[in-house]
Amino acid sequence: MSNSDGMHSHRHVALLPSSGMGHLLPFLRLAGSLISQRCQVTLITTHPIVSLAESQLISAFLSAFPQVSEKKFTLLPLDPLTANCNDPFKLQWETIRRSAHLLSPLLSSLSPPLSFIITDMTLMSSVVSVTANLCLPNYILFTTSARMFSLFAYFPSIAESKTDGGSSRFGDEIRVPGLGSPIPVSSLPSTLLDLNSFFTKNFSDNSRSIKNVNGVLINSFEGLEKQSLEMLTVGKAMEGLPPVFPVGPLLPLEFEGQSSFSPLKWLEGQKERSVVYVSFGSRTPMSKEQIRELGTGLVLSGYKFVWVVKSKVVDKEEDESLDEILGQELKEKVMNNGLVVKEWVNQWKILSHKAVGGFISHCGWNSVVEAAWHGVPVLGWPQHGDQMINAEVIEGGGWGLCMKSWGWVSDIVVKGEEIGDRIKELMGSETLKSTAARISEEARQAVGVGGSCENMLKELFQSWKKTE
Ligand code: UDP
Ligand code: UDP
Repeated sequence: MSNSDGMHSHRHVALLPSSGMGHLLPFLRLAGSLISQRCQVTLITTHPIVSLAESQLISAFLSAFPQVSEKKFTLLPLDPLTANCNDPFKLQWETIRRSAHLLSPLLSSLSPPLSFIITDMTLMSSVVSVTANLCLPNYILFTTSARMFSLFAYFPSIAESKTDGGSSRFGDEIRVPGLGSPIPVSSLPSTLLDLNSFFTKNFSDNSRSIKNVNGVLINSFEGLEKQSLEMLTVGKAMEGLPPVFPVGPLLPLEFEGQSSFSPLKWLEGQKERSVVYVSFGSRTPMSKEQIRELGTGLVLSGYKFVWVVKSKVVDKEEDESLDEILGQELKEKVMNNGLVVKEWVNQWKILSHKAVGGFISHCGWNSVVEAAWHGVPVLGWPQHGDQMINAEVIEGGGWGLCMKSWGWVSDIVVKGEEIGDRIKELMGSETLKSTAARISEEARQAVGVGGSCENMLKELFQSWKKTE
């Protein structure tokens, strides 16, 4: 379909996010950008939805954008034992993958016909066979770092040369061609080290199907990951890579503002850059023992803080009070020195507050991009998955610390004294502060008029026109 000037074809884009706020949020933010570029958007929502936060976000999004159509995709039930998976979010990824064939009638029934679909990376190999049959161009949104993407794209070539299924033959580090610094094997998600694991199989299948997608969108920008993006966009590294579009930083939309708890009033009363914000994202709980050491560390640091405590993977299951988690004595100490909450907070608004001077983060990629935007230095405490590799991006960029010696979640319990010392290091460093400020400046240039975000979307549309 063309407009009268023949310049702009009508674009109808379907979005298929995977489960977890860290996947859903960037998809909805991307939807906002596509709508502002006059695309018609259909959001495919997968049911049942895992967390309360996701259900609420989808409802708020659909109310804020009545022009977006929702297409409900009811999943086939999957027994956790069959999938050998007890993380409800990962189980949902697998459930969507195994239900993917049901997408075919759903996608072909949409009107006007779809121009293209954007799929989450975790679903790629199962969805690409459906879209190929429909001759529907399929792009993926890679919701983590370009550094992680380079490993993802290169992974099959490493795995194929390691047929014994053990981790030892990986050596100490992985040298992805063209990538500035090698990836230490100790930074890989532990499940990936077992070449026979179910997770590794999906990861490999997905990465092998990259060559069959039309392009890869990444929520990153040059100021954050210059070298990784250069090697991916120039295509120096790997043969057969589709075009890569760094469309980041994807910015939040007005509707995301709702949260039952807001520390903004409290922050108003604090000195500039004097407060540490502490959060480990939407699906990373900590053991009670570690939570208590962290509380002790925060108090010992002498800095004020806003601390979001999470003790269960899924929000619906949070059933313990702060009293039970922290114990009466520590809770009182903590509350005399900062704010501690168990609710969902509006992280973007907290990071944007001038009183916030540092962020203790698990380095989920959305958190990294948000901290970069606001120029807030990070004390990176990776817990699992891609987070160590993301933390290396921050450390390599010189605007935060990556606490490798603290290990993966549940490896060791990090002591309060050590945490307190590292907080002092973070908050006292002028170098980290000034580098973070520079990256924030570059993030703002990327979203400005004529910046990379706008240009990348234009390039995406041109790439799609070529498929017509
Ligand atoms: N987030 C938030 N409030 C919370 C917890 C998380 O706004 O209480 C947002 C955060 O700003 C980020 C996303 O949820 O956009 C979490 O994604 P990330 O990739 O950082 O981590 P994940 O939750 O996937 O581990
Ligand atoms: N991942 C990917 N493709 C896949 C599955 C996973 O790129 O098909 C990446 C993604 O970055 C994910 C990471 O591998 O975050 C590790 O997965 P895990 O579930 O352990 O991490 P999480 O999402 O919890 O951070």
